[in-house]
Order: sequence, then C-alpha cells, then structure tokens
Amino acid sequence: MGFLVNQRMQAVKPSATIGITMRARELNARGIKVVSLAAGEPDFDTPEHIKEAAIRALREGKTKYMPSAGIPELREAIAAKLQRENGLQYSPQQIVVGCGAKHSLYNIFQVVLEPGDEVIIPSPYWVSYPELVTLAGGRPVIVPTEQENEFRLRPEQLAAAITPRTRAFILNSPSNPTGMGYDCNQQQSLAEVLREHPRIAIVSDEIYELLTYRGFRHVSFAAAAPDLYERTFTVNGFSKTFSMTGWRLGYVACPDRASAEAIQCLQEQSTTGTTSFAQYGALAALQGSVECVARMRAAFDERRAWLVEALRKIPGVSCLDPQGAFYVFPNISAWGIPSTRLCLRLLEEAHIAPVPGASFGADGHIRISFATSLEQLKEAVKRLRAWVGQHIGQR
Ligand code: PMP
Ligand code: GLU
Repeated sequence: MGFLVNQRMQAVKPSATIGITMRARELNARGIKVVSLAAGEPDFDTPEHIKEAAIRALREGKTKYMPSAGIPELREAIAAKLQRENGLQYSPQQIVVGCGAKHSLYNIFQVVLEPGDEVIIPSPYWVSYPELVTLAGGRPVIVPTEQENEFRLRPEQLAAAITPRTRAFILNSPSNPTGMGYDCNQQQSLAEVLREHPRIAIVSDEIYELLTYRGFRHVSFAAAAPDLYERTFTVNGFSKTFSMTGWRLGYVACPDRASAEAIQCLQEQSTTGTTSFAQYGALAALQGSVECVARMRAAFDERRAWLVEALRKIPGVSCLDPQGAFYVFPNISAWGIPSTRLCLRLLEEAHIAPVPGASFGADGHIRISFATSLEQLKEAVKRLRAWVGQHIGQR
C-alpha cells in the first residue's frame, strides 16, 4: 500500500461481492460469456412509475441541495411505512435517509462506536459488516453459526460472546448470504439475552424483509421486542425490494432523536444527504402499488425452488432452502477445495461466478444469487454439473 494510505484503511478489505460482480461484467464485455451468480442485485429494471417520478422531479427543477436527513415527504412516508407494515412507531425526525442501506449502516457505527468497542456479528455474515465496524474503529466479534441450526445464532452463543466491551449486535433477517430468517420467537429469545445488557445497541438490517418464501413471515426486531426499541436501529432500503440498487437510497429508523441528529450531522459534513430527484422516486415507490414487488418476489420464488432442487442433485452438495433474500448458500466442503480457489477455478474453467463462502466467514460454502433469470440459472447449473463431473471425480 502507498505511503498515503493510513492504517485504518489498510485494515479494510474490498467487497468480494462487488469485486466478483464487476470482474464477471468485465469478462462479458470482452466476449467471454460468464454467468454471474455474484450480484446481490435484482435483474429487473426499476418499475416505471418510480422512474417517472424521478424524471418529473428533475423536470420540475428538484435539483438543489435537499435537507441532509432527506426530504420531509420521504421521511414521513418511511415513518408511515414502518407503522403500516412493521407495526413500529417512529416520528419522521427519527428517520435518516442515506445513500443506500450500506451508508446508513456505516453512519450508525460511526456515531455509536468508541475505539475498541466490540460488535457481535453472527457468521456467515454479509461481507460489509466487519469492514464497516473496522472503519469506525470498532472490533468485529464473529460468532459462527451452524448449518444444522439453519445458520441461526442460538441465545447461548450470543450470551457467551458478550463482554464488557460489547457495544452492538447485528441481526440480519432474512440473511445475506444464508437466506435463513429469525421468526418472532427466535428474535425474542435473542432479545432475552440482550435485555440483560443495557449497553448493547441492536442493528437490525431488514433490507430483504419483503422477499420471503415458504410461508416465512418477517417481523421487525423492534416489534418482536418492543422494550428494546429504545436501543434498536432499524435499517432498510430501496435497492432490493424495488430493484433500485443504482439509485443509492436507504434509511435508518433511529431509536431516539439524538442519534438521528448525530447521523444527520455526519451526513451534513460528508455527503450533504442524498441525490435530490432520486428521493422523489423513492417516495413514489413507497406510495405506489406494491404489485411490482409481488411480481418480482414471485419470480425469485420460482427460481429458488428450481435452484435448490437442482443443486441438491449435484454430488457432494448440501443446500438449505432459503426463507428469504435471493441467495442460496450450498455447502460444498465435500469437494475438498477451499472456496476462494474453487470460485477462481469456476470462473476460469466453467465461466460461472459465485462468491466464495470464505468472504462471508464460512469457507466450505459458495453463495449463488438467484437474482438472475431462470434461463441463466439453468445454464449455470449445467456448467457447474459438467465441471463437477470432470474435476471432482469419484471420491
Ligand atoms: N444489507 C444487506 C444484508 C445487503 O445484502 C445489502 C446489499 N448491498 C445492503 C445492506 C446494502 O444495500 P444498499 O446499500 O444497496 O441499500
Ligand atoms: N449486497 C449485495 C451482495 O451481497 C450487493 C453488493 C454489496 O453491496 O455487497 O451481493
């Protein structure tokens, strides 16, 4: 690293999910037909009424600096959504709109953590959590979960990981990368442990809440454990639900005005808030019909069912059936190849691009995104099956 890069930044890893997605795109642009299974990004275009609202805002001259915490209409619409869909009472002043849920998470850790504070992160985890904590001077404490327990953290594991330095706990349900979720009871048993430790803030990343399958019903953590509302940050965004990844819009609902104001101040001194006209698109997303979401969800559901069955037929693969998000996280440890090396070989030799489990803190797995067409998934599985037949052999 160059002499101009500080130690804090040297400790931060680039995002594997973004890295592999971009690498697959580059290869495709060079004429090598790679099936990318890497992107946590819906393959659908943003629904028309959302795009129209942003275009209208542009035409109407909504092109100036906006309030740093978001336009008032959008903060109100988010508060109304949280009340309507999640049973959570927030005033618009508790909502801060950021440049994606990732940015909102970044802001939370910047505002909450003191140097050396520990943040408990169950693994497998989304690649950015440990890095966002590190960037804020915190210390990620990774607690591995087991496939046998559907990758859910057990209350006793949470209790055992808590120390006097623990400042926050990240819960992501439904989860990226495992696709598994915590139902109301399961969240309540974690809440029982957290209740004993008043210093711990809960960061509940609910970005996949509407993409659920097999009858799984999402419940917000702060609704499952209302007495912990006052130390829970509820994070959500527009990227996944409304297929708006490139708009860079997400939000956090803060437990109190003081933390919301601190995040607003941080935005004011960094991004000055988010893009003006994009926020009018997000407003239309929240106020419009949810039919577009239902259609996308149904397509993901069909792909999930096909993919899980197809993967389970490949020798040496064991694969849980996701309850939400758009990822499967098959266990391929029987193949005996470290996941990073495996994914490199799959990219070069089979022209398919999953993400190594190691990037999510769980070697022995790969993550396959089914936010791509069924046709592409069928092609990918065909290539994977052929590669396995050729290289894994009869063990
Ligand atoms: N949380 C999780 C679990 C995710 O998978 C993502 C995907 N990028 C995000 C947060 C952030 O999404 P965005 O910044 O696009 O809103
Ligand atoms: N969250 C998505 C993923 O896991 C998008 C890329 C990123 O931000 O990590 O693939």
